[in-house]
Amino acid sequence: MLDLKTLPWQVLTRSRLLDRLIARSERSTAGQPNQLRVLLYHRIDEPMARPELDPTLLSATPAAFEAQMRHVARHYPVVSLEQVLSAVRRGPPLAPRSVLLTFDDAYQDFAENAWPVLRSARLRATLFVPTAYPDQPSRTFWWDRLYHAITTTARCRPMDTLMGRLTLDTLADRRQTFRRLKSRLKRIDHELASALVAALSDALEVAARPNPVMTWETLRRLSAEGVTLASHTRTHALLDRVEPDRVAEEVCGSMADLARETGPPPPVLAYPAGQTNPRVAGVLRDLGLVLGLTIRRGINDLANSDPLRLRRIAVGPHTNLLGLRVQLQPWR
Ligand SMILES: [Zn+2]
Repeated sequence: MLDLKTLPWQVLTRSRLLDRLIARSERSTAGQPNQLRVLLYHRIDEPMARPELDPTLLSATPAAFEAQMRHVARHYPVVSLEQVLSAVRRGPPLAPRSVLLTFDDAYQDFAENAWPVLRSARLRATLFVPTAYPDQPSRTFWWDRLYHAITTTARCRPMDTLMGRLTLDTLADRRQTFRRLKSRLKRIDHELASALVAALSDALEVAARPNPVMTWETLRRLSAEGVTLASHTRTHALLDRVEPDRVAEEVCGSMADLARETGPPPPVLAYPAGQTNPRVAGVLRDLGLVLGLTIRRGINDLANSDPLRLRRIAVGPHTNLLGLRVQLQPWR
């Protein structure tokens, strides 16, 4: 008897038996309505296409993404954000096994690599935009600036900084230094992290690269072609680390930016880094938002889920097609 809980994940995602079990489940038309799977992607690109960006933040290569979308389109009803909003507002229920496709951060590779695949397969998608970044090339995500500074600085000797001693000898040392700093910075307020990384980049004598976020012109084109644009706050602030006034400012500011640049946005927000708590969700509710998307893994039963804390299934560079198919199963 196959025990899914005790087998290592890597073994599981290469198992033919598992493949057959999932294929049987995928052929089934049974299932409850309003069970929503939300896939979360960030960047779709070749690992070395943009060497200034951390390749571990890729969700998939263009070829892997195309295979995933072909599979999803064949086996699952892909719904729009508008359909999800309508179902939550007690409109028509979602078909069993519905999937919503979401993309966070609005990196340029969405327009270059993801959208052509989605468009030709006629799949609806929602793009969550941190609205302070388009057309602001000097404003960079701190994790991108940190990666670029650590991996390209001409300095090789160890260096003492506010964030501890940095080892920069080999490329492996640099990558380890980057991972260590990133895991520490992820836990602090976004603005403080940005300021610390800016100071560190200056000390390492590395100038910031223009940010890799799409321009408003590109976003307007995507919106006209059918991509749903929604809020990912303005500055990508971690909302559970800031005061309620700042939460309201980030949410209302980004809604106003989207309204000004691309038209009225849906009452929906993807929490930066998925971070939220009851206080933040309460602020969103008071502002009239209907859906909030986290990065907690799982499938949503819309009848019993808090719509301001919806779960998503994040796709990463190590998610092979079978791994993705496992995660879309109700028993997973
Ligand atoms: Zn994000």
